[in-house]
Amino acid sequence: MFLKGKTALITGSTSGIGLAYAKAFAAEGAAVMINGFGEADAIEAERAKLAETSGANALYDAADMTKPDQIVAMVERCHAELGGPDIVVNNAGIQHVAPIDDFPPEKWDAIIAINLSSAWHMMRAAIPHMKARGWGRIITTASAHSMVASPNKSAYVAAKHGVVGITKTVALEVATHGITANCISPGYVWTPLVENQIPDTMKTRGLTREQVINDVLLDAQPTKEFVQPEEVAALAVFLCRDEAKSITGTNLPVDGGWTAA
Ligand code: NAD
Repeated sequence: MFLKGKTALITGSTSGIGLAYAKAFAAEGAAVMINGFGEADAIEAERAKLAETSGANALYDAADMTKPDQIVAMVERCHAELGGPDIVVNNAGIQHVAPIDDFPPEKWDAIIAINLSSAWHMMRAAIPHMKARGWGRIITTASAHSMVASPNKSAYVAAKHGVVGITKTVALEVATHGITANCISPGYVWTPLVENQIPDTMKTRGLTREQVINDVLLDAQPTKEFVQPEEVAALAVFLCRDEAKSITGTNLPVDGGWTAA
């Protein structure tokens, strides 16, 4: 429980990787603020479980990551009601897949807002609170697509490359304040989002479940296995340890060898 007394604010943590981060921080005793969309009863159930796990408080904030004023308000609410934030995880993300000449400009705007700009607004709002205590951890979920491209993902690849640039810059700016900033770059992670795509892909491509998993989803991943959300979260927890205080400005892959190829 080395995070007792600390507060972690995780965007996009009502499902998938974000929820795994929240659970992992709570298991180490952190108070957590979760965020994201979803069904109110399910979110409340997760919030209550997180509080029970940590023995600390847990709150949900519905801030929309496309709205900078809501991001700032969420950080200030976290500070007022939970303290901190000592740990900030920029994790909310969306995807849209289309060739650039068919890519709707409003999808470009949404992906850039949620996957890139929200991280900048979060860091800008949270860093003064971290500086005040001389300790902080900023973690951003990037992606293998922060290092390599795939066709039809121009907005996602641009946003994920962009968060690495923000992270490197901010890491330099806060280096003498006890604050680190890093990206974690997963390959294909087994989340509800990925799982829910399988039946549709089976239907539209006339493939079996195994063919979708192995020949479509895991084609780029040398291990031929999904990364589990808990593996990503475990690295985030390590980055919060004192032993990780010299790891800053990095982009750490958790991708089964994808970006080694
Ligand atoms: P997910 O869909 O399960 O989770 C996304 C979260 O973001 C949800 O909580 C959702 O409610 C929230 N969200 C979406 N739009 C939002 C908005 N406007 N404001 C606030 N919250 C919003 O997906 P996931 O797979 O867990 O993805 C989490 C992060 O991991 C994303 O940044 C994604 O790009 C990244 N990632 C995922 C994979 C993968 O294979 N699943 C791989 C690499 C990177």
